[in-house]
Amino acid sequence: MTIQIFGLAVARGVAIGRAVLIASSRVDVAHYFISAEQAQPEVDRLLQARDEVTRELSTLQHDLPADAPHELSALLDVHLMLLHDENLVGAASTWVRERHYNAEWALSAQLEVLARQFDEMEDEYLRERKADLEQVTERVLAALARQSGARATRTGTPIAQDFGGEEPLVLVASDIAPADMLQFKRSVFKGFVTDVGGRTSHTAIVARSMDIPAVVGAREGSRLIRQDDWIIIDGDTGVVIVDPPPIVLEEYRFRQRQLQLERERLDRLRHTPAVTLDGQPVEMLANIEMPDDAAVALESGAVGVGLFRSEFLFMNRGHDLPGEDEQFEAYRSAVESMKGLPVTIRTVDIGADKPLERMSLHELRHEHSLNPALGLRAIRWSLAEPAMFRAQLRAILRASAFGQVRILIPMVAHLSEVRLTLEALKRAKQQLSDAGRAFSEVQVGAMIEVPAAAVRIDSFLRHFDFVSIGTNDLIQYTLAIDRADEHVAHLYDPWHPAVLSLIGATISKARAAGKGVSVCGEMAGDPAFTRLLLAMGLRSFSMHPRQIAPVKQAVLRADAQQMSEHLSSILEADDPVQSAQTLLGGPLH
Ligand code: PEP
Ligand code: MG
Repeated sequence: MTIQIFGLAVARGVAIGRAVLIASSRVDVAHYFISAEQAQPEVDRLLQARDEVTRELSTLQHDLPADAPHELSALLDVHLMLLHDENLVGAASTWVRERHYNAEWALSAQLEVLARQFDEMEDEYLRERKADLEQVTERVLAALARQSGARATRTGTPIAQDFGGEEPLVLVASDIAPADMLQFKRSVFKGFVTDVGGRTSHTAIVARSMDIPAVVGAREGSRLIRQDDWIIIDGDTGVVIVDPPPIVLEEYRFRQRQLQLERERLDRLRHTPAVTLDGQPVEMLANIEMPDDAAVALESGAVGVGLFRSEFLFMNRGHDLPGEDEQFEAYRSAVESMKGLPVTIRTVDIGADKPLERMSLHELRHEHSLNPALGLRAIRWSLAEPAMFRAQLRAILRASAFGQVRILIPMVAHLSEVRLTLEALKRAKQQLSDAGRAFSEVQVGAMIEVPAAAVRIDSFLRHFDFVSIGTNDLIQYTLAIDRADEHVAHLYDPWHPAVLSLIGATISKARAAGKGVSVCGEMAGDPAFTRLLLAMGLRSFSMHPRQIAPVKQAVLRADAQQMSEHLSSILEADDPVQSAQTLLGGPLH
């Protein structure tokens, strides 16, 4: 039966494929694809685990004291029966053979399928057997974990590059941590859907950086979509169509082809200089998450990296954080890839929806911090970990010997943070000099993403060489809207007059002070805002490499001088969208 699910459109385009459901079950298991040759050994692992649990349960039953209640033995019978039901391990083996899931993933996927069937049962007694099924499955999973040779993969991290299947796959999950999203950069998934998340949650940002159609905040999505369902993800409207009829499928395939043609046309702009109609040159920089992305940035026509989110180097590694040398190699690699163009490395922005250790966002939100977006995040975290901070600063400084490096400090709100940061930098430089290590002069900039810094921008400008406006957080903190929370996503409004006036003032004051200013939040990569930002005087935009071509097209069609004449009217309007549409012309898509 066809159903439609509505969420938030976060990464444009259309994806069509079979759903791969990452279960949100209590049992946290590894998810990875195996190769075709590994299928039989993987099925054998499943069978061995089942046999081991059979022995376990039989021993338990055998050792029951004589006076144990009869129900206990009957329960073990039920467990043994469930264990040997073809619908469990047998069906899981089919996932292994046909979809190349690893054993743990196959088993938990099958548990999800069966659990839904149990939920729908009329008979209460049978419905309650779901708990038994879960217990049995957990036993098998535990047995799998004990097996020697079990592939050591971090839990919940799909590694998909070695998948040998034919059909396109799309990922459906309740939630995907930004760290796990990184894995998808090399994955086979053509799109994804999550139940939670907002338009500028880091999960959505990474999706956009991969240019993969995505819908987040689909609420019930992972409950309504079943393993292996055919689904269409419409990343432009935020609609997910499950089990579409052939005519709808055909329509979307047509749109897919149109989008592809449009993309190819835009790609031709890659190396065209970005200059407005009135001759104003505009700098198009790239946002990257990993050093490898630098090559993509260059290929997309970026003239530098405006934001290297260095925290992604720290994720997915448990307690084993990258030391100074490892970081240095990563930064050097990005710097060298950019062949002399500037690379702006942001010091770690750990916290909020980017937890350091692998823990669920739920845990982070509810157990570790009352309100992580307002907690120990970004520069606050770095200043609380001075040794780690200095190691990062030394690593960045050392990379500056290999190209143009700039340091960017996230989330500054207090001048005391500025002072401590600059002291840490001075000390890091001294340590390097004492050790005879080479480094060059680096420019230091601040992210303007907390309203306090935007309001008092003049004071901050005195201490920095440049500023970069993080609109994602600036909007979050100005409007008191958690950017990752789908329940308030409708209130997350980049067009809010208060937001626009903070951005406009920051740009004009930075320019008046002769300091560099760019925008590196998602607004910079959205062509709907290009004309407005040009009108505000912005000449440096930093965005995902894939956004460069569409934004460049908007720049090439804009007359910055003419637009700036309308700026004050737009900033004073109660409805800036309407006003911008009328005064700057064209639909703001
Ligand atoms: C921002 O807040 O706009 C920004 C670019 O930083 P991040 O999205 O990584 O918080
Ligand atoms: Mg930010």
